[in-house]
Amino acid sequence: MRNLITTDSFHIFFTILSGMFGAVFGSFCNVCIYRFPRSESIIKPGSHCPKCENPIAWYDNIPLISWIILLGKCRHCKTSISIQYPFVELITALLFAIVYIKFQFSLATLVYFFFTAGLIIVIVQDLQTWTIPDEITLTGILVGVGVSLLGMFFPEQGLRIENPLEAVDGIALGALLICLMDLIVILLMKKPGMGFGDVKLLSMLGAFLGWRGVLGSLMIGSMFGSIIGFFVILYYRYIKNIEEKIEEENKNTNTDFYPIDPIASIFLGISSIYLMIRVLISLKPQTSTTFPDEIINGFLYLIIAFLLFSLLIALISIFLWRKQFAKIEHKGIESNEKDLEITLQAHYIPFGPYLSLGGFTFLLFGPELISKYLQILNIVK
Ligand SMILES: [Zn+2]
Repeated sequence: MRNLITTDSFHIFFTILSGMFGAVFGSFCNVCIYRFPRSESIIKPGSHCPKCENPIAWYDNIPLISWIILLGKCRHCKTSISIQYPFVELITALLFAIVYIKFQFSLATLVYFFFTAGLIIVIVQDLQTWTIPDEITLTGILVGVGVSLLGMFFPEQGLRIENPLEAVDGIALGALLICLMDLIVILLMKKPGMGFGDVKLLSMLGAFLGWRGVLGSLMIGSMFGSIIGFFVILYYRYIKNIEEKIEEENKNTNTDFYPIDPIASIFLGISSIYLMIRVLISLKPQTSTTFPDEIINGFLYLIIAFLLFSLLIALISIFLWRKQFAKIEHKGIESNEKDLEITLQAHYIPFGPYLSLGGFTFLLFGPELISKYLQILNIVK
């Protein structure tokens, strides 16, 4: 009994400590969110008021508390400080506490603190500027591979990925899925799809959560997206009347020109070839107690057919891009950049926040959800 109380208070203590650490880290996230889009260093000048440039003293920079004491105003010039600052600090604090509760006292908790903070930065920055910081996603891809190595050497530490190949599979599948969707949208609807930021984001989620994590994040993210997106569209359509404006703008743009991203095609090609090799080599039908061999084999053929289809789309896009490129070179580029800018504005519901939410949910519950799902399948069969 006494032992139980001490372990309980141990956990409560560390949950609160994680929350406090989260609030401090959230404050750092705010710095990143402000400075990444402006390409400023996140270390060099200390915190200062963006209006009067006065440095912010440490006692005015205590997460959450300072904002409340100062009533959301700069001490010197009384400019109001956005509620976004304490909000991000509070959210980070809560999520860090949740991560600790889930992964307890382990290496995983420490790693996923950083993962969570990265996702928070992505969510807020994507909502604000419709850009996803490479500082997070590209770094995250590398760190994710490193973490999978850690998982291999310290398998008892609760890390979700314990094999570097699984991380690489995730990166490839993440790139493949978004590039594929992007190119299909461009080829069929002749307008730009999601953009390369989302490719790197899903690849980063894949590096941390594996190929299952990519599928899971995408599914959970789409679910969040369709629920929240529904209300966002209602808001824009009825309150701001933005829909018609965008359609009008789209009409004005040159419909002959729809930019195919050759880099997306190349990524799609490479990742589909890589995954095909992976499926052929390492996913040899394992003797599974859950499914009969025929189902697993059939499923593998389906995956390979899908990968071949992706490769085909990649080849078609590269072919069409070369044709377009030749045409543009012939005619000379006129106002394509301006067109691009306008069409980018039409893409007013960023997908990054949903993907990030999906990734975080999968981090917490993914493997459990999958095993539940398999259990249900097994019972149904
Ligand atoms: Zn000020």
